[in-house]
Amino acid sequence: MGIRVEVTTDRRFGTNSYLIEDDRTHDAVVIDANLEPDLVIALARERGANVRAILLTHTDLDHIAGLHELLEAFGEIPVAVHDAEREVVAEGKPLRREFGPIATKIDGVSSLVEGESYRAGSLEFEVLHTPGHSPGGVTLKIDGYLFTGDALFAGSIGRSDFANSDGPALIEGIRSKLLSQGDEMIVHSGHGPATTIGRERRMNPFLT
Ligand SMILES: [Zn+2]
Repeated sequence: MGIRVEVTTDRRFGTNSYLIEDDRTHDAVVIDANLEPDLVIALARERGANVRAILLTHTDLDHIAGLHELLEAFGEIPVAVHDAEREVVAEGKPLRREFGPIATKIDGVSSLVEGESYRAGSLEFEVLHTPGHSPGGVTLKIDGYLFTGDALFAGSIGRSDFANSDGPALIEGIRSKLLSQGDEMIVHSGHGPATTIGRERRMNPFLT
């Protein structure tokens, strides 16, 4: 199975939305819904991708802002999120005490469960719970790729200064679930460029 990964980035927060497509079947998912959903919608149309689900690494505003537009474009496909942050997308409950509520109410929310796989058409993702930046932060693994959201970045890690953050849990999750992966695993983060697990294990100043 050949997996194709493309990234779009919004100009306001520099948040990445990914299109992951099975080259053979053209089944696809979008990971995270940044503030310029039109970019990933255009990309999916251009490629003739059949987007089967939207997967969320977590529910900070810049990762879910484009949800309604994505659902309008792709139809009523499932939106998958960890149960710890389900109410944010299902009921518009604020993720952060520091910020106000978000006008998001999505039907058809499904669960990303640690240690289980999530299937969308011909694509199958492994779910790794990597909390700490937020309680329901997950990393999604498929083939040689890890989509780490705001847990791990090239040369950095996610913020853990929010009321519901947990710095030690963030580091522990990165060490046990991500740095334990092979050197050659490609890391696609919620912000910034791609990197590899090998590079981060050697060079990331927050982890060495
Ligand atoms: Zn973010």
